[in-house]
Amino acid sequence: MKVVPLGAGQDVGRSCVLVTLGRKTIMFDCGMHMGYNDERRFPDFNYITTEGDFTSRIDAVVITHFHLDHCGALPHFTEQRGYHGPIYMTPPTKAICPILLEDYRKITVERKGETGFFTSQHIKDCMKKVVPLHLHETVWVDDELELRAYYAGHVLGAAMVYARCGNESVVYTGDYNMTPDRHLGAAWIDKVRPDVLITETTYGTTIRDSKRARERDFLEKVHSCVTRGGKVLIPCFALGRAQELCILIETYWERMGLTVPVYFSAGLTEKANRYYKLFINWTNQKVKESFVDRNPFDFKYIKPWNRDYIDLPGPMVLFATPGMLHIGTSLEVFRKWAPDERNMLIMPGYCVAGTVGAKVLSGMKIVDIDQYTQVHVNIDVQNLSFSAHADAKGIMELIRQASPRNVVLVHGEKSRMSYLKSKIMSEFGCPCYDPANGELLDIETGQDVRALMSDQLFQAAWAKEQNRRENTVGHGETSTPITQMPVHGVLLLGDGKRLTRLLDPSEFDLDVVPIVGNTVSSSVEGSNGSSSADKGDLTAVAVVPDPDGSGSSESSERIVFTTRKVFDGAKLAGRLGLPEGTSHEDIAESAIKAINDLLVLDPETNLPKNKTEPAEKLTAKVGSSVEISIPPMSADCELPMLYISWAWEEEALATQTLAIVNRILG
Ligand SMILES: [Zn+2]
Repeated sequence: MKVVPLGAGQDVGRSCVLVTLGRKTIMFDCGMHMGYNDERRFPDFNYITTEGDFTSRIDAVVITHFHLDHCGALPHFTEQRGYHGPIYMTPPTKAICPILLEDYRKITVERKGETGFFTSQHIKDCMKKVVPLHLHETVWVDDELELRAYYAGHVLGAAMVYARCGNESVVYTGDYNMTPDRHLGAAWIDKVRPDVLITETTYGTTIRDSKRARERDFLEKVHSCVTRGGKVLIPCFALGRAQELCILIETYWERMGLTVPVYFSAGLTEKANRYYKLFINWTNQKVKESFVDRNPFDFKYIKPWNRDYIDLPGPMVLFATPGMLHIGTSLEVFRKWAPDERNMLIMPGYCVAGTVGAKVLSGMKIVDIDQYTQVHVNIDVQNLSFSAHADAKGIMELIRQASPRNVVLVHGEKSRMSYLKSKIMSEFGCPCYDPANGELLDIETGQDVRALMSDQLFQAAWAKEQNRRENTVGHGETSTPITQMPVHGVLLLGDGKRLTRLLDPSEFDLDVVPIVGNTVSSSVEGSNGSSSADKGDLTAVAVVPDPDGSGSSESSERIVFTTRKVFDGAKLAGRLGLPEGTSHEDIAESAIKAINDLLVLDPETNLPKNKTEPAEKLTAKVGSSVEISIPPMSADCELPMLYISWAWEEEALATQTLAIVNRILG
């Protein structure tokens, strides 16, 4: 399977990931980067083709949710770059997406005077092509490609998408939240066991404190600021966190009997309320129930914002869009309120690098808003992570639910992904990748290919195999079977295109059929759906002294990850072409040798040379820290097991090793 991020590779913003599975290509998300105003704000579509014929190269576009960093480039891609194929999104996303696109277009074209941007008509024409994707419903793009959406919890209508074509499957999460909040439920997925799970990692290194503590913290901060006569600015997206925080403030104001005015800036509120009502099934149970009495988004204390209020004296609270202070009302108000130290800025979410929000959060005291305006930041800046993304614990939980064979990390900062990567590999024993934009990952899915063959082909192959054995034995040579199973036919898999063709025995010479690479031998029994033998895998994280030993006290310890894989000795022996009854030690040695061969190492230097001197462990080493070992069977180790350990600085090498080990162990 091929995976390439065109945006959001080791970065947050302009999500866009191309996946080729079976012979189909899907574009997951088509987002915009809020940190740029030039061509870098869109994904690099030239990567797909420079000739502009996107429709013949992409079979479907899937949009996970309405945030502009996931859908902002869509009208540009369809109306200005000419993609005419199908687009899928959930009904709430289809309803809300054009409103946000239009809002952004207005600001860009009408206020900032940009030209060449997509038009209102472009947005409308684009949305006409959208096919709705309902939760848990299997949708067939054509005879081969199927899609299924799962609840992602992140914002109203957000979905994770499972796609399958032939034997290959993928899950693309988009943004998701594993903890239910005040208006949405938690993300959830079936154990779909995809070949590849592509997950966001925005908060991949954070383990957040309890939700309740965060809420209390937020309310206390707001309260203390208005008590000292200050103004509180809370930049947020119009839909999502805004509703969440408004419900919080509303209940608190009621309980505390506060009279300080609270405003909401976006004209989107009424529309937003309408959508919540329309798509009530996408909210959580509590909201659904309370809708019976009254609309929980009709607020008693929160009033619409008027620009004239900006200079009014006295305390107030303002929710203003957009969330990253890059444009619009939130930025306009920030300019006015930032110099006064009595005021407070609460950033409830993540800010893309390059935005004013990100600059302020990084602690800059003088911020350039544009080439003419500089603002002195004396305002009390608070960052409260209310953003509806999964934290490290949530990401691990989702991986556990879906049980993928490989994991790809996107939508996060590179520096933050590293540790998470090792943790995932160690805990689940599966390779984990974090490609940069434009970096093509070719992931071996290594699944069995089911094949039917004619009797004629089977008999001809069988006769030829018998013949071959008789001939070789007859000449006094030892027969070296190609595999334990007789080869009856050969399926050819075309170069990445999955063009399968069954060769007749007359078309090939059995003696030279390779059993690895792009050729798959088909057995009479066919695939037995190889159940994962590594159910009992354990995880260990150990801290051992740094072998270099020379570092400072901080670097004198390195974190070492270990993952353990239980394997089926007889099956492995068969795969390695060893005769029945081969001892565990010999199987282990062959396995280590095969792993070494695939790692393109000289086996001589890595394996115990003298078998008469029994090695305690059969071990192979790669790089400075990656170690693969198969301990001998003993009383306390009754199952055949393979261990891989690595220091997390070498996770790239560990990823490669894990992929090879999984291929060999099956
Ligand atoms: Zn989002």
